[in-house]
Amino acid sequence: MSYTFPKSHAFFERAQKSIAGGINSGIRKMEAPVPLYFQKGEGSRVWDVDGNEYIDFQLGQGALLYGHAPSGLADALAAQAKLGLHWAAQCELELEVAERLTAMVPSAELVRFNNSATEAVMAALRLARTHTGRQLVLRFEGHYHGWGDEGLVGFANPPSTWDDAESPANTHPSKGIIPEVADHFVVTRWGDVEHLRRRVAAHQGQIAAIIFEPAMCNTCCIEPATGFMAAIRELCDQEGMLMIADETITGFRFGAGGAQSYYDFKPDLTIFGKAIGGGTPFAALAGTKAAMAKIISGEAIHAGTLNANPLCLAASKWCLDQVIAAGDTHPATTNALGQKLMAGLTALAQQHDIPLRPQGPGLAFHTVMLKPGAAEGLVGDYRDYITRHDAARWAHLRRCLLEEGVRAIERGLWSISLAHTEQDIADALARAATAFARHAD
Ligand code: PLP
Repeated sequence: MSYTFPKSHAFFERAQKSIAGGINSGIRKMEAPVPLYFQKGEGSRVWDVDGNEYIDFQLGQGALLYGHAPSGLADALAAQAKLGLHWAAQCELELEVAERLTAMVPSAELVRFNNSATEAVMAALRLARTHTGRQLVLRFEGHYHGWGDEGLVGFANPPSTWDDAESPANTHPSKGIIPEVADHFVVTRWGDVEHLRRRVAAHQGQIAAIIFEPAMCNTCCIEPATGFMAAIRELCDQEGMLMIADETITGFRFGAGGAQSYYDFKPDLTIFGKAIGGGTPFAALAGTKAAMAKIISGEAIHAGTLNANPLCLAASKWCLDQVIAAGDTHPATTNALGQKLMAGLTALAQQHDIPLRPQGPGLAFHTVMLKPGAAEGLVGDYRDYITRHDAARWAHLRRCLLEEGVRAIERGLWSISLAHTEQDIADALARAATAFARHAD
């Protein structure tokens, strides 16, 4: 029996009168048939206001690496809340979190805290420009770096701009941007070393930094091609640019050392978000001593009333301790569970003749729905994804999955938490079997 959502529909209708557009983050409007309203979560499961129970692979857009409402985290938050919510001053907790980060991530010699990764990206780019005295930043199509003016340049270049494949456009999906902001980005295609080298050479001596998601989780979970991270490192060293890894999604999801340990590279600066706070508004900018110097000197201003808020710090300390305690079992376990889910989805797709192709590592993966007649094989970059992925058909399957109690991110990204078990994967596949059959009907 598939789920219905009468209370969520009623809440969403009521929300139109007091909340602009009815939601508080643009992306949430994508959820069909209606943006859901939730009541409680526990471990791998979450319940909406209609009493529908989901096996959750959306996980708060990836932040809930430890599952929903883990009791240890709830206790840590409650204990801290009794001592104080906010001081806008220093406390020992910030040292404890910073010391954990510097011990876990080799490139993190120094850190600064923020409340969102969007802010930490902003700080990283300002710092890189101050560090190098240069204005341009090189970034890749399909990589998302937050919703700030800078984070979205060239993220989702529409096919109408693809004519000049050598110099991807600096389009911005939002109105209201100062045009000069976009002019300060060199947009590049992901995974093509020679193209990257040409883009850097064309702007020699002008690029402050290269920023990227180590695995392009925001578009199809495309892992870096062999040698691509090493090529970025080499180019940055040769040209005096900073290498900025945006590990908002990959940080701690890919293990204690983040994607930089998983793929073995050493950036100058790193952005951590999502899993670092386990669902609290927390983010960090981390870097080598050399790269962080201009923040220390105050030449690159970094600030924020709620930075290093004790509630978020208490949460983060608990979260990082889970990752440390998991040792080698994470990401190995999350990866294995995810791969089992990917294999099960692939088998169901074959059974129902649905062209669904999961790709990525198991711990976070994307479900590509091939368009009729589209070529087989891994999707390699943003344009390839837009060209071959059938977004409308995926949206229909995603809705069938939701109505059977399996929740993935609207765009097709799935994440596994430390709370997921073999039983969850088996249950999810049993529910998915019904959803696939309904979709194929
Ligand atoms: N960078 C990446 C890679 C992200 O995926 C996101 C959010 O999804 C951000 C930055 C922005 O994070 P936040 O929403 O916490 O500002």
